[in-house]
Amino acid sequence: MQRQESSEERKNRLNTNAKRWRDKNKERVAVNARLYRANNPDYSKTRYKNRKEIYAMQHKTYNQNARLKVLQYYCGSENPFCMCDGCNEHMLEFLSIDHMEGGGNEHRKKIGTGIGMYRWFIKNNFPSGYQVLCHNCNLAKGFYGICPHTPGIDLIDIALTLEA
Ligand SMILES: [Zn+2]
Ligand SMILES: [Zn+2]
Repeated sequence: MQRQESSEERKNRLNTNAKRWRDKNKERVAVNARLYRANNPDYSKTRYKNRKEIYAMQHKTYNQNARLKVLQYYCGSENPFCMCDGCNEHMLEFLSIDHMEGGGNEHRKKIGTGIGMYRWFIKNNFPSGYQVLCHNCNLAKGFYGICPHTPGIDLIDIALTLEA
């Protein structure tokens, strides 16, 4: 008795047959393709455009996820926030990673900025010594050595001198 062909085997057989037919009828296949493109002039254009949009979207989501993941990890929260006391920043767009011991610039030079940096954190299994700060607090810390939000700190004199 002959064994029943599985659906996988059937698919393979039909594919092989179709390929054999195409190989034998190359001229005809080419003519058909030409005809199809002539009748559908936008075909390759829209196809390319749609793909490009899909790739761009996937890329963007992937990058945003990487960034969100790192911010969530260092905050220990689903909804990342600026970890400076006295700052209430929750908007993802304003949040960044702060090198707690300083040396952030050196480190950034090594691992890059932007999405490359976020990927670095994931690839290196979230090393310790980092926290989430908003850009304001992060810059203030770099500028004054401490964020003006810190209780009991009054940096207004320095700020006024620097601006003068
Ligand atoms: Zn802040
Ligand atoms: Zn602050």
